[in-house]
Amino acid sequence: MTQLEILPTPPAQRPDSQPWPTYPMTYRVSSAHEEGGERLFAVSTEQFLDDGAGNVRALRLVEVEPHEGGFRPVDGSARDIPADFVFLAMGFVGPEAEGIIDQLGLELTDRGAIARNADYSTDAPGVFVTGDAGRGQSLIVWAIAEGRAAAASVDAYLMGSTNLPAPIPATARPLLV
Ligand SMILES: Cc1cc2nc3c(=O)[nH]c(=O)nc-3n(C[C@H](O)[C@H](O)[C@H](O)COP(=O)(O)OP(=O)(O)OC[C@H]3O[C@@H](n4cnc5c(N)ncnc54)[C@H](O)[C@@H]3O)c2cc1C
Repeated sequence: MTQLEILPTPPAQRPDSQPWPTYPMTYRVSSAHEEGGERLFAVSTEQFLDDGAGNVRALRLVEVEPHEGGFRPVDGSARDIPADFVFLAMGFVGPEAEGIIDQLGLELTDRGAIARNADYSTDAPGVFVTGDAGRGQSLIVWAIAEGRAAAASVDAYLMGSTNLPAPIPATARPLLV
């Protein structure tokens, strides 16, 4: 078993940039990891290679380095690793543009989320965006707070004013990122 991760190997100890009470991104070993396998960090899959009969036989990897808020391949780092099964466990990588986003003509941010204003409205009249679709992958507490605040904005849009609570604007960010 080989586990691939695009991020670099995290530090063993909580870094200064992630003081308590933020959740520290440290190197963790779960019981599943203890059973065996290899963990590769700072790599990205560029291609699935097949055996000519419709089965995957290998993955083509490149090493990556941080670049302008994302990642870029390291020149000359491509290599293949054998694979019989590939499990994708990447979490939420953004809303799918095909369908409702295209049909409503909604803009996407440079990170693939739906662009919106501080009151959760989009540039399409009467269309509001809340939760992960607008914030990007996040946590349930943010989705709940955003949902309540967006409901207040929708109420104000429909009724002209609102008495509903708006816990956070769409622009709210964690205290430390
Ligand atoms: C694997 C995984 C583990 C996570 N673990 C945690 C955790 O431990 N703690 C935590 O706080 N957060 C966790 N999260 C994040 C959390 O689940 C999300 O932040 C939260 O669910 C976002 O809520 P949401 O309402 O914005 O979106 P979602 O919960 O994704 O809801 C969006 C809904 O819209 C529906 N939908 C999509 N397109 C359409 C359409 N065209 N028409 C109608 N419906 C549509 C979808 O089916 C979905 O039901 C995890 C996320 C993942 C992927």
